Amino acid sequence: MATTGSKLKAAILVVSETASEDPSTDKCIPVLKKVFGDLGNDQWDVSETEIVPDNALVIQKSIKSWTDGPEPINLIVTSGGTGFATKDVTPESLILTLPGSPKGAKENLEAVLKLLPHACIQAAGAESRPLHVGGVEKLEKDAGVSSGGATTGTGCGHHHHHHHGHSHGHGGHAGPKAHTNPEERPQSNDPSAGPTRRYRSSPYPMLAVEDALKLISEQTPAAAVQKVPVDMRLSGSVLAEDVKATESVPAFRASIVDGYAIKIPATGKFEKGTYPVSIISHAQPGEVKELKEGEIARITTGAPLPPGADAVVMVEDTVLKSLTEDGKEEKEIEILTDEIKPNENVREVGSDVKEGEIILKKGEGVTVVGGEFGLLASVGTTEVSIYKKPVVGVLSTGDEIIPHNREGPLRLGEVRDTNRPTLITAARSHRFEVIDLGIVSDKPGTLEQSLRDAMRKCDVIITSGGVSMGELDLLKPTIERSLGGTIHFGRVNMKPGKPTTFATVPVKDNDGNHVTKSIFSLPGNPASAVVCFHLFVLPALHQQAGIKPLGLPRIRVILDEDVRMDKGRPEYHRALVVTKEDGLLYASSTGGQRSSRIGSFRGANALLCMPQGEGSLKKGEKVEALLMGKLGEVER
Ligand code: AMP
Ligand code: MG
Repeated sequence: MATTGSKLKAAILVVSETASEDPSTDKCIPVLKKVFGDLGNDQWDVSETEIVPDNALVIQKSIKSWTDGPEPINLIVTSGGTGFATKDVTPESLILTLPGSPKGAKENLEAVLKLLPHACIQAAGAESRPLHVGGVEKLEKDAGVSSGGATTGTGCGHHHHHHHGHSHGHGGHAGPKAHTNPEERPQSNDPSAGPTRRYRSSPYPMLAVEDALKLISEQTPAAAVQKVPVDMRLSGSVLAEDVKATESVPAFRASIVDGYAIKIPATGKFEKGTYPVSIISHAQPGEVKELKEGEIARITTGAPLPPGADAVVMVEDTVLKSLTEDGKEEKEIEILTDEIKPNENVREVGSDVKEGEIILKKGEGVTVVGGEFGLLASVGTTEVSIYKKPVVGVLSTGDEIIPHNREGPLRLGEVRDTNRPTLITAARSHRFEVIDLGIVSDKPGTLEQSLRDAMRKCDVIITSGGVSMGELDLLKPTIERSLGGTIHFGRVNMKPGKPTTFATVPVKDNDGNHVTKSIFSLPGNPASAVVCFHLFVLPALHQQAGIKPLGLPRIRVILDEDVRMDKGRPEYHRALVVTKEDGLLYASSTGGQRSSRIGSFRGANALLCMPQGEGSLKKGEKVEALLMGKLGEVER
């Protein structure tokens, strides 16, 4: 246990743009350290201090390094940048969020410091019974405080109008500039704080698509390995180990043609002439007699050569000479050639595959074309190691969302669930197992419970809706505050799909192993959800299944018409790509690109990667595209 014997460990995190650039401007750390020294009853060791800019991801990183590190910290005191989301706080640590001004920070810490040791010891996992012997009175006596006097407020979410010892700059938000500082706004992502306290600007930095993809790749858990039987379900999987042939193909010397097996005499020269047919070897299992010199054996393609045979003469090089008495069988055959060489028309044992040879390598896919499966089947491989494909769960969020097939007319405000069926279809078309997780209402508890249930069954969860700035947009706060997840990004510089959110949540699986679940929270607008599935989710699913290359194939296409660019953001434009007689690929827009308009996907087989810019890219210009479906062909 972290607490027995030694002092309690405390860490101080100062959140300030200015101080992070120039630590000498920080006044908070010395002031707070002094409070620990003066009022801390010699119980505290302030072992860590850090100054970070006003950036949620950086803040999370510091806190996580303390809470998840080898030397657990009992108390984390932060100063400034209040209103950010604390997350993945293991229950062993307490976090105290203080205002940014040295004076405010000092007063708040003084007020609560004496009460903290007991809370920290309990949080660190100490049994509460011995701690509570003596009751509240003893606790207060130990803490040196008396009933009624102390405030237990932590300063968390304080709406403070104090002067700052240093000023906080804005994070690198793109677009319009607000005239207030973040810490002057009563912001919170706590859903219970209600609409009046919600974020009025996104605290998540806007990432470029490439950076978002990089984060996804870094955070996607390694592919799990699994032994599976070799059967039809294998196609689409990737091998996690080399496969060696346990048998040779062919397993016996086999004839390549229909004809007559011969034995070359000791002279080394097989002569033309008439020979008796002493053996018949068909392609069927069973013993075959030994072939003697001067006799021949009728043999069919693929049948085993009789022991003693050296080569096979094609039926075309022979003539029937005589029949058996009942007239049903060949008795004698004339061989018309003397140019037969040893082993002619014979497939030797192991000439296709040798026993012990590596037939498929780690990382190779068992494709749906069938070749790899055929190879495994040919040598009787019964079991292989593959990368376990992640199980995908799909849910829609929103009180307004109803099942797409609900009968009867819509009531005002109702919206048919477009995303869930579309996303399930898309993931299944890429051969992933998908669990339909239904529609979840915009209630914090319900959403949390649904996600927890989903994490028991699925490795990757795709949600849609609830990631914008409305007060019912609960995905981000639920992932951070309730599930202890980490949001790796919450905004991407793209159109459609700006609020796309990617998070991971550490959980224990049914066997008690620590595993990581991924959550992709896609925007609610149907076209956005589908674009973001293809752009972000698919590469992650591929990576986790060991499939390469990741995501959709990238191709270069020629625009068949002018296509407008978006002034503000790079755009993924739904388009139809066709091959024409010149063998080149041409793209035309499928029309209206509004993010709510799923109809723009009708007939689309590609996403044009349109750069941000003024005006249009002109007909004839080349642009990169992501190919989602089969190439079209122009009618001739
Ligand atoms: P939200 O981000 O939840 O505010 O959703 C943005 C827009 O997408 C709203 O107009 C929603 O009604 C709509 N929307 C959300 N989820 C779905 C869905 N599953 N099917 C169709 N429209 C949806
Ligand atoms: Mg919604």
